[in-house]
Amino acid sequence: MRLILLGPPGAGKGTQAQRLLDRYGIVQLSTGDMLRAAVATGTPVGLKAKDIMARGELVPDDVVVAIVADRIAQPDAKNGFILDGFPRTVPQAQALDRMLAANGLKLDGVVELRVDENILLERIENRIAQAQARGEPLRPDDNPAVLRKRLQAYREQTAPLAAYYALKRELRSVDGMAPIGEVTAAIARALSGDNVKKKKASPAKAERNGNVLSGHAAKASSHRAGGASKASRAKGKARTGGAARAARKPTARRPARGKSSRTRKR
Ligand code: ADP
Repeated sequence: MRLILLGPPGAGKGTQAQRLLDRYGIVQLSTGDMLRAAVATGTPVGLKAKDIMARGELVPDDVVVAIVADRIAQPDAKNGFILDGFPRTVPQAQALDRMLAANGLKLDGVVELRVDENILLERIENRIAQAQARGEPLRPDDNPAVLRKRLQAYREQTAPLAAYYALKRELRSVDGMAPIGEVTAAIARALSGDNVKKKKASPAKAERNGNVLSGHAAKASSHRAGGASKASRAKGKARTGGAARAARKPTARRPARGKSSRTRKR
């Protein structure tokens, strides 16, 4: 199983990756963790990345691509992996495509965690406060000003990946604002739906579904929501994920999410 988790900072990619590891017997490859380790040990990559990361900007593509190429060639990644934080730009996604093709490998899915950006700040501020209360050291980029920068980098450079993978029919979209266990279950369902014959969603159906992210991402995830709907109907399964909800209520757009989920804390 080879997966990509897509989503802005605070969307829960790391949390979900951890939960999926056991389920699929694969490893988590977090470029953020790899870069932080490089910074901590002062390697040449770390020296290059340190200030860029502290500013909330993206490390150059060639640096990150080289790290990932090395990492996925290691024996523990042979069974499969979850990429968390990579790719983050279209050129990184293209480089990954080339890496996988060169090794005769394919992705099993790209899962986008759809979140309401307005509450991400609140979520991360909570995370920071909790870490501080426990006396844990903070990441240099875990502060509100840098977080805004990270969100901006996500919107401008990473969100277009949803459209990139939707065009390749690899994108699955899941409601990242649901409770942690529900999100994991929705991801598993989205992935198992892949065993069912995928049919192309009609443009009309795709248009009726919504998304809280950029227009690009909205289009991309709604494309998948239509596809997932057909696949799941074919299986006769009850679905509770975001894509499923969007498919059941074709006219409901994301801002209609209930207040309860907006105030839900992790
Ligand atoms: P977040 O919690 O914001 O999703 P990560 O832990 O994944 O952050 O990454 C932290 C920082 O590391 C990013 O803000 C960026 O500077 C750098 N980084 C991680 N992955 C990549 C990548 N694929 N491309 C460029 N920079 C990256």
